[in-house]
Amino acid sequence: MSEIFDPKNFNNITADAVVIGGGIVGASTAFWLSKAGLKTIVIEKRDGLSTLTTAASVECFRTQFTEQAMADLVLPSVEMFESFKDVVKLPNIDIGLTQKGYLFVTDDPDMVPDLKKAVKRYAEIGIPGSEFIKDTELHKRFPFLSPDTLAATFNNRDGWISTHETTYGFAKGSKNATFFTRTEVTALQTDGRGICGVDTDKGTIQTRLVVNCAGPYAGIIGKMAGLDIPVKTVKRQKAYIRTSHKSLPAEAPFTVDLVNHSYWRPEAGGLLCAWVDPDEPESAPTDEIATDWDFAAESIYRASRLSPFFETIADNLKAEDIDVSAGFYVYTPDDKPIIGPSDEVEGFHLNCGYWCGVMMAPAAGKRVADIVTGKMDNKDNPLRYSRFKEGSFEKGDTFLK
Ligand SMILES: Cc1cc2nc3c(=O)[nH]c(=O)nc-3n(C[C@H](O)[C@H](O)[C@H](O)COP(=O)(O)OP(=O)(O)OC[C@H]3O[C@@H](n4cnc5c(N)ncnc54)[C@H](O)[C@@H]3O)c2cc1C
Repeated sequence: MSEIFDPKNFNNITADAVVIGGGIVGASTAFWLSKAGLKTIVIEKRDGLSTLTTAASVECFRTQFTEQAMADLVLPSVEMFESFKDVVKLPNIDIGLTQKGYLFVTDDPDMVPDLKKAVKRYAEIGIPGSEFIKDTELHKRFPFLSPDTLAATFNNRDGWISTHETTYGFAKGSKNATFFTRTEVTALQTDGRGICGVDTDKGTIQTRLVVNCAGPYAGIIGKMAGLDIPVKTVKRQKAYIRTSHKSLPAEAPFTVDLVNHSYWRPEAGGLLCAWVDPDEPESAPTDEIATDWDFAAESIYRASRLSPFFETIADNLKAEDIDVSAGFYVYTPDDKPIIGPSDEVEGFHLNCGYWCGVMMAPAAGKRVADIVTGKMDNKDNPLRYSRFKEGSFEKGDTFLK
């Protein structure tokens, strides 16, 4: 059984593995490491698990990726969401799995061939069930869309989950893992053989294996190991709109306007909406992320372009119906996560660099454990850290990242 608690000061404790970070990525990593028989300790500086970036997300997952490396992570992750009770062996867990699909929509005629190409690409790389939908069929199936919309890609297997339940599911389902909350990693110790310990504000843990799952702080943890991990943190926000207005299509999928980068989806008691500003500059990670006063209005305005019911909802909104929260997307040079060991520091592994860590976490955690236990050769892992040094990486053309 796993334990989750705020420890008192400690000394002389040992672990086979220490996972830094108690978001969804750290919890999954601990689950798979402990399942592989490693005595694992997770260190989380905040009051609880799943309280930083993971809590800021819109909690969605999609199979629609154009890059093989991403498809290979997301497909097994979606399978795990679909069979989560069996994966974590907790028969009563409910992660709120909702599969209403992802709909990427455009009203730009120049973009229509790209959508068609994307759906062809999904099929080529083994992603089943994606559709290219246009014209009358599009409006028949998604009547909430503006008459100006021309085409869309859609996969009805995509959807959303409760990230809080999923993170705690991984934690509670862990066999031999301890989760320390309110404990901050302050330094990493190394000797001639590589990693030998983790210093925290409560004491030191001796270990030969550390996994960096620190989300937006992954670069800072990397520096503790003497590494300059190529990660950039960019603020991203979301707005929750409380509404029971009858014009809200409660059965709608996660809907993305590919032209202006806005998206929305139904959520209990209302909806979530946001937009991904391509010009948002990089900013240093912090737990106290200021939200922009006009973010909700801008998101509603943008979403209303192709989902015009937003105009009716907006007319009836009061300030207290809107909550905006923020977190960070973490970008790497090829916009893909970094998973696996560093060559430079023996025993220092990474599972970080995510702008889509919710949907990748289940299989990414398993990949870390598979590499540690020798089930997977890191050379066969396209998301290995050394790809940047080797120059074997390129940016893909996946929508909305
Ligand atoms: C607005 C928004 C919407 C998003 N929507 C989606 C989505 O729909 N789908 C999707 O897949 N992704 C989405 N994402 C991205 C997703 O939220 C992240 O990729 C994911 O949550 C990363 O999880 P994590 O566990 O790596 O990071 P986190 O949840 O940030 O966890 C890292 C943890 O490490 C801890 N930590 C850091 N440093 C230390 C230290 N020194 N000592 C101890 N603990 C430490 C932190 O306190 C934190 O709890 C979204 C992000 C944002 C901001």
